[in-house]
Amino acid sequence: MPFAWSLNPYMGCVHRCTFCYVRAFELRADRPADDRYGRTIRVKTNVVEVLRRELARASWRREQVAVGAATDPYQPAEGRFRLTRGCLEALASARTPFGLITRGPLVVRDIDVLQEASSRADVSVNFSVPTLDERVWRTTEPGTAPPRQRLRALRALVEAGVKAGVGMAPILPGLSDRPEQLAAVVRAAREAGATHVWANLLYLQPGTREHFLAALARDWPEELARYEELYARRAYLGRGDMGSVKRQVAELRDHYGIADRRSLRPASAPEPVQLALSI
Ligand code: SF4
Repeated sequence: MPFAWSLNPYMGCVHRCTFCYVRAFELRADRPADDRYGRTIRVKTNVVEVLRRELARASWRREQVAVGAATDPYQPAEGRFRLTRGCLEALASARTPFGLITRGPLVVRDIDVLQEASSRADVSVNFSVPTLDERVWRTTEPGTAPPRQRLRALRALVEAGVKAGVGMAPILPGLSDRPEQLAAVVRAAREAGATHVWANLLYLQPGTREHFLAALARDWPEELARYEELYARRAYLGRGDMGSVKRQVAELRDHYGIADRRSLRPASAPEPVQLALSI
């Protein structure tokens, strides 16, 4: 993982995407990674309290924190528990930079916190939108909001001055990697005002692999042989396949002119000054 710190207020995710890489973590932790994954989730009810304590340590260096790398921090439970909101407030108070990834439009509820955090540290929100293809979305992401709804949420964030972009991940070989499919996502991201876009292809570690391939055999049996060959002895695709898709997305990004064009940017909140008392 390209970060040292991650924060997940929940464990498990009711969105239950067939490709979810968290299934691999669950398997390693001796929890169900198959169809039972996401039927229940675990809620870290004291996460905000613990986080505030950790951030208050003199040794905390305000390193970048990845929020939601192993769960969706805006899955439905967040509507009730508000733990992600509490964590973002704590990170903002501690001027700690963070990057958040979600498929949940509920994030717009917390625009006020994200604005405040953005005035104190580098903050970015990434909406996972691997495809706009209706069938691929419905079949592989049984519990998520429609991709266009995520893009509407993205627009609301950018208009409020919060950096927000699109993570096209995971792109599925043969199902969502056709040039016109990639272009449709990047074009829609540009229309929504995305400040950045990036892409990643599917990877299949044990736990994710068995579940994804079983779902593929049910939903797209004609694709099974291709995947078995592509992922025969590895979890990740080779540089050739990976590089080709990432290159196409980078070209599309330049073609559509995706860049940070926020017209509103949160003003920097000054650091509190420690007053010296002369005696
Ligand atoms: S939304 Fe993310 S964490 Fe949740 S099931 Fe889908 S891929 Fe996994």
